[in-house]
Amino acid sequence: MTKALTTEKSIEKMMDAEFKLFDAAGLASLLPGKPDLSTVYRALKRLEQEGRINSVSFFGEKKYYYSGKENGHFLICRECHEIKMFPHCPSKSIEKELKEEFSYTILGHKLLFSGLCSDCARALAKRKERSQG
Ligand SMILES: [Zn+2]
Ligand SMILES: [Zn+2]
Repeated sequence: MTKALTTEKSIEKMMDAEFKLFDAAGLASLLPGKPDLSTVYRALKRLEQEGRINSVSFFGEKKYYYSGKENGHFLICRECHEIKMFPHCPSKSIEKELKEEFSYTILGHKLLFSGLCSDCARALAKRKERSQG
């Protein structure tokens, strides 16, 4: 196997084994043989084109990657930019509606809910209290 192929295989295996978000720099340090960042980016690009992994970005350019076998369910805090993934899938009925309305065969989805985590909500309430003080 060429080195590029080995990197792709390792990335795919890692993402299938653990349902979480990975970034390119993190992957480069975790992968066997410690491939350089450009090798990792090339592998990620190819894997994504082939639908073997998914990517998502939240607050700008930075891309996060996760298994192509999973749908993405994200909860993000607008204040501290914490990102949580949740496994529970609320989309079955939406998929059925889309299928009927647009005659689409749905193959995957990303759901993104944004708001305030409990810490940020508390801090914000405190700030408000003080300013009205
Ligand atoms: Zn927060
Ligand atoms: Zn889902």
